[in-house]
Amino acid sequence: MRASILCLAMACLLAGPGSQGSEDPYAPARRQMVREIEADVVQTRREVGTKSLDRRTLEAVGRAPRHEFVPAELRRFAYDNRPLPIGFGQTISQPYIVALMTDLLGVEAGDRVLEVGTGSGYQAAILAELGARVYTVEIIPQLAERARLTLARLGYRAVEVRDGDGYYGWEEHAPFDAVVVTAASGHIPQPLVRQLKPGGRLVIPVGGPFMTQELVFVEKTAGVVRTRQVLPVVFVPLTGGH
Ligand code: SAH
Repeated sequence: MRASILCLAMACLLAGPGSQGSEDPYAPARRQMVREIEADVVQTRREVGTKSLDRRTLEAVGRAPRHEFVPAELRRFAYDNRPLPIGFGQTISQPYIVALMTDLLGVEAGDRVLEVGTGSGYQAAILAELGARVYTVEIIPQLAERARLTLARLGYRAVEVRDGDGYYGWEEHAPFDAVVVTAASGHIPQPLVRQLKPGGRLVIPVGGPFMTQELVFVEKTAGVVRTRQVLPVVFVPLTGGH
């Protein structure tokens, strides 16, 4: 009896914060997904400029319960390395792309990060797993509300969701250490560059809808803005009145 109580206590200790414990039936699938992400990075090493992502990025992806962010009827595909529909014509991005964009942002614990395009809330959860304070804007109110509920239920208290047009950023919480846009824009929105701190990073798919876009990395250093094209990607379009 005493031994089994001790075992239970040990299991709790091992589970740690943010983890679902040893009972999480999705854990093996999630580990497999992380291995596939690592393999994709190796495959694209020339474009992305590295053959491996930061260990912290992979750990964050290895912790966040993606199955909680996809519609119930698609849960069995939650850890496939591909995008999935989340309703309203929108998608949760491919895990490899989420990991890559997160890694490019170089997020440190305590950073203030703006996300444009909350969608399911999954990318925001990954950023929160890295210890960031996340401000995320979603233009479809129903998606914003659903993401808000999901993130709250899972205990992601460091994420604030607002519905509105993210093209204009989130002035009240600027400046940001990093900004990630998860919908494709024809150009880099200047309000987002303005709301970056010096030394800040912005990652955004640039290009028209229904064509291949380029994932662009933007770095702002003391008044100079440098950009680098990383990889061809396909994202839903950034909408709104701009
Ligand atoms: N990051 C999301 C995936 C988002 S898909 C995730 O992890 O699930 C892109 C999202 O951007 C869609 O939900 C879409 O409604 C939203 N979007 C498009 N234009 C926008 C805009 N101008 N401002 C804010 N959100 C926008």
